[in-house]
Amino acid sequence: MKFDIIIIGAGPGGIFAAYELMQRKPELKVAVFEAGHALAKRNCPIDGDKVKSCIGCKSCSIMSGFGGAGAFSDGKYNITNEFGGTLHEYIGKKKALELMRYVDEINLRFGGEGTKLYSTAGTRFKTLCIQNNLHLLDASVRHLGTDINYVVLNNLYAYLQDKVRFFFDTPVLSVAAADGGYQVICADASYSCSDCVISVGRSGSKWMENVCRELQIPTNSNRVDLGVRVELPATVFAHLTDELYESKIVYRTEKYEDKVRTFCMNPKGAVVHENTNGIITVNGHSYEDPAKQTENTNFALLVAKHFSEPFKDSNGYGESIAKLSNMLGGGVIVQRFGDLIRGRRSTPGRIEESFVTPTLSATPGDLSLVLPKRILDGIIEMIYALDNVAPGTANDDTLLYGVEVKFYNMEVEVNERLESRYPGLYIIGDGSGITHSLSHASASGIHVARCICE
Ligand SMILES: Cc1cc2nc3c(=O)[nH]c(=O)nc-3n(C[C@H](O)[C@H](O)[C@H](O)COP(=O)(O)OP(=O)(O)OC[C@H]3O[C@@H](n4cnc5c(N)ncnc54)[C@H](O)[C@@H]3O)c2cc1C
Repeated sequence: MKFDIIIIGAGPGGIFAAYELMQRKPELKVAVFEAGHALAKRNCPIDGDKVKSCIGCKSCSIMSGFGGAGAFSDGKYNITNEFGGTLHEYIGKKKALELMRYVDEINLRFGGEGTKLYSTAGTRFKTLCIQNNLHLLDASVRHLGTDINYVVLNNLYAYLQDKVRFFFDTPVLSVAAADGGYQVICADASYSCSDCVISVGRSGSKWMENVCRELQIPTNSNRVDLGVRVELPATVFAHLTDELYESKIVYRTEKYEDKVRTFCMNPKGAVVHENTNGIITVNGHSYEDPAKQTENTNFALLVAKHFSEPFKDSNGYGESIAKLSNMLGGGVIVQRFGDLIRGRRSTPGRIEESFVTPTLSATPGDLSLVLPKRILDGIIEMIYALDNVAPGTANDDTLLYGVEVKFYNMEVEVNERLESRYPGLYIIGDGSGITHSLSHASASGIHVARCICE
């Protein structure tokens, strides 16, 4: 079967590429291949009752399917060049911001109207942070919430389904250059196209590595972020989250001068499992609907680890540490901050007696047996620093879940059109290593669609 354009992966990158192609050239024959299920069929079996932890489904509904890893996410679209990816290094800061705002407009049109856009501009917290050796990064953030994010995706699918051919539960096995275009090979058939857009996200990272190896596309991998997810009573951060929703705060440790940062803040949210290539790590989200909100706020504290020559497998390093927590805890480990400081493990009894009720069922244990000392020292230092701007953060009952790992896909060599060394073969979104967020991944999809249409 022949198409003009084949998109591999129906995450935000792939969806927004398909959307923009249909806006600009509706006559194009476009197909989207997705390893996971259609949105309506995505369902994680963890119900907190019968199924308490990850059972390793063949296709993880949290990470795969229409909507990609973003489908059940918090739907926080950060409009900024300060974090979330380095798209601006390829297309320029002004254009990157324009595209992120354009994505925001589409989200509003497709069901996100009425959601709030928060901004750090002119906030008094910037000063408060600097006074305490913390740095608040500039950003605007649209919080759709897990519920509205789903509505937007559903509406986008309704809009696209008659215009674009979707192949769900159809992982692409390989891509080959053929006859001036590309051959996309699946288990039962192969399909050809003139242009191919690869947008396979984090769950497709291993597959992407293979494709790059086979096609000899140069890559570079040297970073992984490691840390914990912090959960505490929502009231502790309420003064920040009510005004900013999400605050990205960076701290440079006194001991090692490492940078520790807050990441993915979820006011009144829930901590969740994340399954990346069979390794269970932790993440978080929250709902816009007050009825679904919890009494806790969660956020990640991450330390960026950059490796230098000769070591190249930064993701392998992160995986090994996550595997250690999976080995000791059978999945994610939870520990009270007070227990960590006293050098003892948390037990079910100590968690039970804690004044903070965990929103995720995890195994009480000892994170100091999992995380490298340098990383743990940095996290502890930052918790004390945060306690100065949000008193109560360093409380004994503050819960730490581990490990949280931000795997960075190896960065694929592409030009300013996000086109690989093969003309017409584009690599976008988190799978390219260039983006690490909903807004950047979506913007990269729009950018590539426009480049193709030009
Ligand atoms: C629980 C959770 C919460 C998050 N919260 C936020 C948030 O609030 N804000 C934010 O900015 N980011 C958040 N993120 C990150 C965000 O979801 C990603 O940055 C974003 O989804 C990346 O988009 P993408 O299109 O590049 O890749 P993905 O969304 O990962 O989509 C890639 C798709 O490709 C498919 N695929 C992979 N390999 C193949 C193959 N071989 N053949 C066919 N299909 C394939 C996958 O099944 C997947 O559906 C969160 C992530 C998680 C897991």
